[in-house]
Amino acid sequence: MLALVLAAWVAGQGQALQMSYPAEAGLTGVTVRWSGHAVPFTLRGERWLATVGVDLDSRPGDHAVDVTFSYEDGRTRVMREPVQVRAEQYPTTELQVEERFVELSPEDQARADREAAETSAIYDTFTPQRYWDEAFAVPVRGAQDGRNFGHRRVFNGQPRAPHSGADLRASTGTPIYAANRGRIVLAKDLFFSGNAVYIDHGHGLYTTYLHLSEIEVAVGQVVERGERLGLAGATGRVTGAHLHWGVRLLDARVDPFSLIRIGAQ
Ligand SMILES: [Zn+2]
Repeated sequence: MLALVLAAWVAGQGQALQMSYPAEAGLTGVTVRWSGHAVPFTLRGERWLATVGVDLDSRPGDHAVDVTFSYEDGRTRVMREPVQVRAEQYPTTELQVEERFVELSPEDQARADREAAETSAIYDTFTPQRYWDEAFAVPVRGAQDGRNFGHRRVFNGQPRAPHSGADLRASTGTPIYAANRGRIVLAKDLFFSGNAVYIDHGHGLYTTYLHLSEIEVAVGQVVERGERLGLAGATGRVTGAHLHWGVRLLDARVDPFSLIRIGAQ
């Protein structure tokens, strides 16, 4: 007897996932409903590909998403696809920073709240244009990995939000490069992040570069993969110079190195 085995898509908490289906005659489009967005697949050679992300705090276990296939004769077919979220263990880290970053003055609190609203409005924007068509690159030349992604953090004894990016070793003045092609949507000093650059790559994918000593790009500019964005530094809430590299993917906080590992393209 033949058993039909449906393999689930699998991703860990805080990981990017590349969904893919083979091209077939008459198939003109594929979209997946993910975190409230209709994400279009891109045809690359013989495969339809879409990059999606599982948030750090997604519930581990079985989930499902709807994938719609559109054909040239006007037919559509919807398939409910299983997605399995694997639990990841992220440690807790204790950090000591300047007290003003933990006990905020009313002015700093108002500023931090304003900036949080501004950055969440950026992440809520789904740009239909897809700017990139190459694999993502690590923004510090020669860096192989990052640290601290997903760590539960305690600043000066007080619990705070988990660490939603990867920290890369980079001394002040180290050039920082765009991980991929995209449009600059934020380039300024933020209370917690220091000098920050946000790139919108389209299709719900954003990369961020924090704590810079210098910013060399401006909002609205389209940057190429590997184009210089600025210099590493130690601005904002830090314990020393480094690059904080973040990825937001369809509202999910994912490890930027998971994008590199899956060869998202
Ligand atoms: Zn960081």
